[in-house]
Amino acid sequence: MSERALESVIGLEVHVQLRTRQKLFCADSTQFGADPNTHVCPVCLGLPGALPVLNEEAVELAVRTSLSLGCRVHPVSVFARKNYFYPDLPKGYQISQFERPLATDGRFAVEREGGGEVSVRIRRLHMEEDAGKSLHDRVEGATAVDLNRTGVPLVEIVTEPDLREPADARLFLQGLKRHLEYLDVSDCNMEEGSLRVDANVSLRPRGEASLSTKTELKNLNTFSGVEKALTREIERQRGLRDAGELVQHQTLLWDAGRSEIRPMRTKEESHDYRYFPDPDLPPVVVAESRIEELRSELPEFPRARRQRFIEQYALPDYDAGVVTASRGLADYFEEVVDSVGDPKVASNWVMGPVLQEVNERGLGIVDFPVGATALAELVQLVEEGTISHRVGREVLHRMLDSGRTASRVVEEEGLAQVRDSSALEGWVLEVLEAHPEEADRCRGGEHRLIGFFVGQVMRHSRGKADPKEVNRMVRAAFGGETDGSPSEA
Ligand code: ADP
Ligand code: MG
Repeated sequence: MSERALESVIGLEVHVQLRTRQKLFCADSTQFGADPNTHVCPVCLGLPGALPVLNEEAVELAVRTSLSLGCRVHPVSVFARKNYFYPDLPKGYQISQFERPLATDGRFAVEREGGGEVSVRIRRLHMEEDAGKSLHDRVEGATAVDLNRTGVPLVEIVTEPDLREPADARLFLQGLKRHLEYLDVSDCNMEEGSLRVDANVSLRPRGEASLSTKTELKNLNTFSGVEKALTREIERQRGLRDAGELVQHQTLLWDAGRSEIRPMRTKEESHDYRYFPDPDLPPVVVAESRIEELRSELPEFPRARRQRFIEQYALPDYDAGVVTASRGLADYFEEVVDSVGDPKVASNWVMGPVLQEVNERGLGIVDFPVGATALAELVQLVEEGTISHRVGREVLHRMLDSGRTASRVVEEEGLAQVRDSSALEGWVLEVLEAHPEEADRCRGGEHRLIGFFVGQVMRHSRGKADPKEVNRMVRAAFGGETDGSPSEA
């Protein structure tokens, strides 16, 4: 019996909360974290007689998203009611698009590190409202319901089953998140549920064209969780096949705490939902001219920007990747280039000291208080040799602590590099006196100690001494017979 090798087949459904201030069909706030059930009204509570009115801003964000994913945006789309019972769904139905979604037939590709790409077709993108939230830890022995999220606008992005590996699913999602952040349609905050993923997976013999029965994994809160859950589920399905059993079409819950998959329910079919067009909402009409306008306003996306940075600024590929990691960082970098002039000097500063401070202080780059021109002033001080690079880092730190400019920090704290030879000579002598044994060994021919002495003098001067001068003087102190091509300390 020749078993053909199996391949996994993966398709994703990604729910993205659009960053509108108001809900999709009423004027309630979408703000996260408010007291439970304070952002509700007759419309999102589903009280009799209340009528939904479509939020145009949400439609525009959804169209932008569709266009950015290369989708065809349909001039007419239709909201339907998806009927089911659940405690967090007060109307008894969710308003979603079913037969006539906003957009179809897109594609999104993410580059693999080390070449190649993961390219996935987008089957459809539709708008829908979010449901409420069940709270299991709020009331002792009972489940409470918070309806603030009810009616918050989402788009659901549904891929074709084009992915083959759990790791690729993760890469795809990371790329998609970055793309959506660049696009500025969502804050994509996974902890707050602004980005949620369901993953569908099946196995089939390699080379087989038809699809096998799939399962759907829900409750995936992180991208690493997606990868882990898919890996587990693929193992489980493989085990079933090996045992000669059938995979059941069902929905499974990922328990991240235990790294475990639990059955949730056998999967509903779409006819179970009794979809029908919502009689309270007219079809969504988006004028072709508006679609074209929105298309022309799309921003430059990470891949294109990275490529441009390589060409326009002659940046190494690595640097271009780092400084385009987010739109905010790329914007900041470009401003710094404008002020500093030399792109490589700019990327060194942004990738090094700036990102270090950003990370250590837990800031976002958009909140980084040292703007491009202020940073450029600091860079200038280093480039012209007023301060050393090491002191430059320290100055940045103090600028952030005190809100002062670079030149004020240097002036007020006396950090300017010292080139004055009498001061330098004094330091060199002090260091030689403090290390008589090493000095003797150096005189005796152990010239690699030169570096040690230069380092000691730099330390003694708290980084202020001009290293080139120090190097020269230390060599001179040992009679200059140290053969040396002056080493850059
Ligand atoms: P359902 O009706 O169960 O929601 P859909 O056909 O709407 O299924 O597809 C939902 C998602 O599941 C899509 O992302 C799709 O690519 C993916 N998918 C569909 N069939 C399979 C399969 N056999 N294996 C893996 N993924 C699949
Ligand atoms: Mg589905």
